[in-house]
Amino acid sequence: MTERLRERLLVKPGARPQLASIDPRETFGRERASAEGDLQALRTRLEELQDRLWAGDGGALLVVLQGIDTSGKDGTLRHVMTAFNPQGCTVTLFGVPTPQELAHDYLWRVHQHTPARGTVSVFDRSHYEDVLVVRVHELVPKEVWSRRYDQINRFEEHLAANGTTIVKFFLHISREEQRERLQARIDTPEKRWKFRLGDLDERKRWDEYMAAYEEVLDRCSTEGAPWYIIPADRKWFRNLAVAEILVATLDEMGLSYPPAGEGIVGLVVE
Ligand code: AMP
Ligand code: MG
Repeated sequence: MTERLRERLLVKPGARPQLASIDPRETFGRERASAEGDLQALRTRLEELQDRLWAGDGGALLVVLQGIDTSGKDGTLRHVMTAFNPQGCTVTLFGVPTPQELAHDYLWRVHQHTPARGTVSVFDRSHYEDVLVVRVHELVPKEVWSRRYDQINRFEEHLAANGTTIVKFFLHISREEQRERLQARIDTPEKRWKFRLGDLDERKRWDEYMAAYEEVLDRCSTEGAPWYIIPADRKWFRNLAVAEILVATLDEMGLSYPPAGEGIVGLVVE
């Protein structure tokens, strides 16, 4: 079951995904009624697997979260990534680059936050903004951003070849769902801090963002660094799908506890 869901959400290299034909409300037969319990079970698995990652020296995990405003990046962090022991997990938010960051190549700020061996790094936005917001707003000329897809693939290949497992999630919501979520941010005092007037200008560029995402998904889903498209209108399904794929990814890393040091097994503490 799990394997099938993961398989269906995976962007196969070169598959040219069309976001308009992927329903953000899709739930693949999963039931809302059992979602809470299923998520709890998956969170327990995540905790166990991360413990093995932390204990051994069997690699590192990089999780990339991308999606348009209100797509649920924060919610995914809160509901899924909190299963990880904070000792071995860092979350990095990539916002508008600082002058110092802009003075370097665009991967410089990202590379500093890739996971150390034994740890998980979660990127809330990422180097992909450099072919998303940067492309949509023409912050650099096309000749510059259009070369970045290959550069990003090579960067990720380099990380993978050096022991980092990479998994990337695109949280796919509908335009209507975004309208409702933005409206809720305006109308709810506790959510208002998340709203910026600029969010409405970004919304006007919906189609441009979708085209930019399609190119990312088409060109940058690789064997060593796959993209998954997560239908995300229903938050419970989004959480379940992300958690399942993380469990499967960590499972495949074949993590095991390090062998006991010499003379330890059978020792009796007086
Ligand atoms: P938020 O995720 O709501 O905190 O917003 C972060 C903002 O930073 C978003 O509007 C992103 O588009 C923007 N941002 C992230 N990376 C870049 C980048 N490389 N260049 C320009 N803007 C960026
Ligand atoms: Mg925002």
